[in-house]
Amino acid sequence: MTLESKEITCHHCGKTTRIERKRDWCEKCGRRIFYDPKDRKRHQWMTYYMYAVVVGIVGTGFILIRRFWDAFQ
Ligand SMILES: [Zn+2]
Repeated sequence: MTLESKEITCHHCGKTTRIERKRDWCEKCGRRIFYDPKDRKRHQWMTYYMYAVVVGIVGTGFILIRRFWDAFQ
């Protein structure tokens, strides 16, 4: 799917890149840039969600290990 080319300013480094796809990589810093600003928001939320999931898994694992450890002391 090709969209009308549009200039997108990178949120991270301020470099303006012309893109024709829904998402692309910044030429300067290599981060994700999005054609639709809504997609950037969605991507950000997805990233936060992934962090939360990882922290949850690691936290739960840590608690379980502690309990296991305590049970054998
Ligand atoms: Zn950039």
